[in-house]
Amino acid sequence: MKRKEFIKKGILGTAAIGTTSSLISCNSEPQKDAEIPIINFNKTYEWRLTTVWGKNFPVFGESANLLAKWVSEMSNGRMNIKIFGSGELVPGYETFDAVSMGVTEMGGGCSYYWQGKKPAAVFFATIPFGMNAQQALSWLIGGDQEGMNLWKEVYKPFDLIPFVGGNTGVQMGGWFNKEINSIEDLKGLKMRIPGLAGKALEKAGGAAVNVAAGEIFTNLERGVIDATEWVGPYHDYKLGLHKAAKFYYTPGWHEAGTQLEFIVNAKAWEKLPKDLQEIIHTATLRVQAWMLAEFDAQNGLYLEKLINEEGVTLKEFPDEVLKYLKKYSKEAIDELIGSDPMAKKVYESYLKFMNRNKAWSKITEQAYYNKILDI
Ligand code: CA
Repeated sequence: MKRKEFIKKGILGTAAIGTTSSLISCNSEPQKDAEIPIINFNKTYEWRLTTVWGKNFPVFGESANLLAKWVSEMSNGRMNIKIFGSGELVPGYETFDAVSMGVTEMGGGCSYYWQGKKPAAVFFATIPFGMNAQQALSWLIGGDQEGMNLWKEVYKPFDLIPFVGGNTGVQMGGWFNKEINSIEDLKGLKMRIPGLAGKALEKAGGAAVNVAAGEIFTNLERGVIDATEWVGPYHDYKLGLHKAAKFYYTPGWHEAGTQLEFIVNAKAWEKLPKDLQEIIHTATLRVQAWMLAEFDAQNGLYLEKLINEEGVTLKEFPDEVLKYLKKYSKEAIDELIGSDPMAKKVYESYLKFMNRNKAWSKITEQAYYNKILDI
């Protein structure tokens, strides 16, 4: 459709709705022009979006570029979002503040980076032994959208509106330069593993170390750290981690499905016409679907490469180790919610949803995988 026809149809369409509604309401007063919402199709909106990742960082950074492309296409060029990677406009760790203060209208990241500002934020990303991608999304946007409503409540004081921004799916347990056969093997183990999972490792006698992405390979190769988690086969391969450690462990008990986010400055949001708001909302959901699909596609391919071409040894954490880590993770979560009523409120909702859905997941997904995958 040509732009001119599109404009004409849009205005005619709105006028027709106005007439119908006045007939339905039997309003004898003629409708005033001001009451008819006329969309100015010539007005364009230029937004800026800053992310916690590098601009073209595989999957994560790419997702912001795709969002901008889809918003521009869906709006027929009325809305354009310029993407800034970490450090281009502000450092990645300032994304939350930048959007909150309106430096940019939009941001992309992961809520667990903001738990220093709001401990409750971590539950909208991932927690050790938490929900997988499907379950977390169900808590957020399924049913009565309890998870999303809580997320909005947590971000509201910062003038931020959260949107889903993709999910990594279940991550890998990480790379280790020695075998983990019992909980004793974690004693003294120096591992790059952040957040609550890092606290659980420390309770097991290990040391959680913070290492920037660019230094993980070198630190692992030189023995500065004994182990690291990163993401999954695709990202791990690209970082060359298989050349720095021998054993690749599963499952990613610490990140069963890390939910990512887009954040929008509330004042900028209010200035958008309703149709552009819906376009942004729809584009975020498209990113959500695309990212999980992309992760599964690339991880399957790169797992094959790691095993067949690189001779990587896959290992499973023993049940005993996972049981201890679950216990220690629970202690770390209890410490977090003990000092913050909002975090407690969000965790209670999260836990209730997870436990309810456990029974359903057991007889569907778990039963399917257990019975079918190896038959
Ligand atoms: Ca990770």
